Amino acid sequence: GVNFKRLLRKNWLLIATVVSVLLGIILGIVVREYASLSHLHKQYFGFPGEILMRMLKLIILPLIISSMITGVAALDSEVSGKIGLRAVIYYFSTTIIAVILGIILVMTIKPGVSQEAEHIDRTGTTPNVTTVDTLLDLLRNMFPENLVQACFQQVSFLLRCGELNLSPLSFQNITKDYKIIGSYSDGINVLGLIVFCVAFGLVIGKMGAKGRILLEFFDALNEATMKLVQIIMCYMPVGILFLIAAKIIEVEDWEIFRKMGLYMVTVLSGLAIHATICLPLIFFIIVRKNPFTFTLGMAQALVTALMISSSSATLPVTFRCAEENNRIDKRITRFVLPVGATINMDGTALYEAVAAIFIAQLNDFNLDVGQIVTISITATVASIGAAGVPNAGLVTMVIVLTAVGLPASDVTLIVAVDWLLDRFRTMINVLGDAYGAGIVQKLSKRELERMDLISDVDVANPF
Ligand code: ASP
Repeated sequence: GVNFKRLLRKNWLLIATVVSVLLGIILGIVVREYASLSHLHKQYFGFPGEILMRMLKLIILPLIISSMITGVAALDSEVSGKIGLRAVIYYFSTTIIAVILGIILVMTIKPGVSQEAEHIDRTGTTPNVTTVDTLLDLLRNMFPENLVQACFQQVSFLLRCGELNLSPLSFQNITKDYKIIGSYSDGINVLGLIVFCVAFGLVIGKMGAKGRILLEFFDALNEATMKLVQIIMCYMPVGILFLIAAKIIEVEDWEIFRKMGLYMVTVLSGLAIHATICLPLIFFIIVRKNPFTFTLGMAQALVTALMISSSSATLPVTFRCAEENNRIDKRITRFVLPVGATINMDGTALYEAVAAIFIAQLNDFNLDVGQIVTISITATVASIGAAGVPNAGLVTMVIVLTAVGLPASDVTLIVAVDWLLDRFRTMINVLGDAYGAGIVQKLSKRELERMDLISDVDVANPF
């Protein structure tokens, strides 16, 4: 009775979203069966979903800028240094765990051993992107030469691919049969903005009364942005319904799922184990709270990630879930969630390791211990380097493959099923970020409490 009503009222949005996912799947299957839509009509069909994506992407820029600057400025530099270090240690160790888990699974299940690599046309130059290149590009991205340009530039990894004859465009050509490559070029250089905002926030925090004006400005901007997020989220069920329906109508090759079944099972079970065992265990050991209640609190963000395959575009929802449902301190979320969405990708790292070894198995390519270590390192780097946009992990796969001498063009072997795996790995990426925020908050409890005590005299802390 009463309890049920309250539950409904509190979670109506989540319930509506889940219902719309189911309705969208049904709608997609029905339309697929009974109507043969032209390409143009398919596009019209996906329109409400396209609008949702646009709104979510639109909000990323003000959200990241306002949350990072206020997040950093509200802490004193010593505290933010400590929090940052804890976050980075968490990101790094969980990513490595994910990679190792993936490697263990793919070496035991061996999804590629009984299969033959289909004949692929290996014309075109094999790009030799090295790990060093990727690291340098990562650093390059951290220091954008133009702040305005950083808001709409493509990630420099892809520019570099262009030099090496694997521009996003020719990449699109390789995969044009599958029509799954989203646009990479309209991304934001999130990493570059983050670095700038951290520096800016630190400076503001040290400026005293004058800095306070700016801090209040960005704080107000953040609040206004989060209000907009609330409005967008009301539209979400509608957008998601058509997004998923359009996807189901659009996919041409379902047969491939049977052929690639074992590979997909390997990736998905790895992601599932990471999400239900590894991360919760770490969370429980450190935070001493029920990790599954925490996961449930993130449900809206997880469904969103599953539907739109982008950690960056999910970020607004991640914020809301972490702050509203899981009650994580804003000083922590504002600081660590944008960074997490950009560099902490457990799902992607696991996926890259599995995919690379799968491709090696298809090629009858025996990997020695050194090469397996190389794969785990490059998969980690590739996941850090991948932007939080759809299919980014597929592009950074090239680094992992070339590092062990596999043909980079072999990404074509796994492209057809990537749209589905991308959704699931993005979901795990987002979950990892959220757990990270919870863990860092717990580890930083002392500093936060001390700041609370002095907060009425500390002008730099408006919270
Ligand atoms: N789509 C993923 C994300 O946004 C990145 C990837 O392709 O692995 O987190």
